[in-house]
Amino acid sequence: MEDTFKHKGLRAKLIETLKSKGIKDVSVLNAMSKIPRHLFMDSSFLDHAYQDKAFPIAADQTISQPYTVAFQSELLQVKQGDKLLEIGTGSGYQTAVLLELGAKVFSIERQQELFKKTSKFLPKLGYRAKRLIFGDGYKGLQEEAPFDGIIVTAGAPFVPKPLLEQLKIGGRLVIPVGEETQVMTLYIRKEEKTFEKETFGDFRFVPLLEDKS
Ligand code: SAH
Repeated sequence: MEDTFKHKGLRAKLIETLKSKGIKDVSVLNAMSKIPRHLFMDSSFLDHAYQDKAFPIAADQTISQPYTVAFQSELLQVKQGDKLLEIGTGSGYQTAVLLELGAKVFSIERQQELFKKTSKFLPKLGYRAKRLIFGDGYKGLQEEAPFDGIIVTAGAPFVPKPLLEQLKIGGRLVIPVGEETQVMTLYIRKEEKTFEKETFGDFRFVPLLEDKS
């Protein structure tokens, strides 16, 4: 679990790449410059950790491309102390970014193997989510709602209603919507029953899967 000068140097370069691709939010760039992404991947991928690419993690899943993580984090407009829900914990990298931004994070993962692995791993790096949950993200997390923000890190074939319903007024849902490719979509809850929707181009995610049970 080392973070060497080499890693730090590569990470600084990655942050420059993210800037050149249009990421402007300084708090997001700062957060990502602190997180040792190489430790979130299997060791054989160490050298690839600071390329702007998605990579396989356990259970046929991927750690999202750094640009995608930065883009989604920027859209979420995280403020210190925000209560956030993440769907798709995966490697925990996005979770770590949200924690670095000062949020209280709840995160749901449906793959048991990943859930167990990441639940052990994140605290080792000092990243303490409010709760990591093994379960189905389509339902959101009613007992902790409402949230300032909800971020979905898998491709959703449609927008699950519970996620919209679990937003505070003024809250933001960032969700990639689509089957083969996904359109990055932002919903802002303006009033109880009024949502503003904005789209931000195509991305590619592993699918948000329906509950197995
Ligand atoms: N945020 C992660 C991205 C992981 S890929 C990271 O930074 O590494 C998306 C994750 O969503 C996978 O781990 C997958 O198992 C999970 N997932 C898919 N469908 C889900 C569902 N219905 N509920 C919760 N998690 C889900």
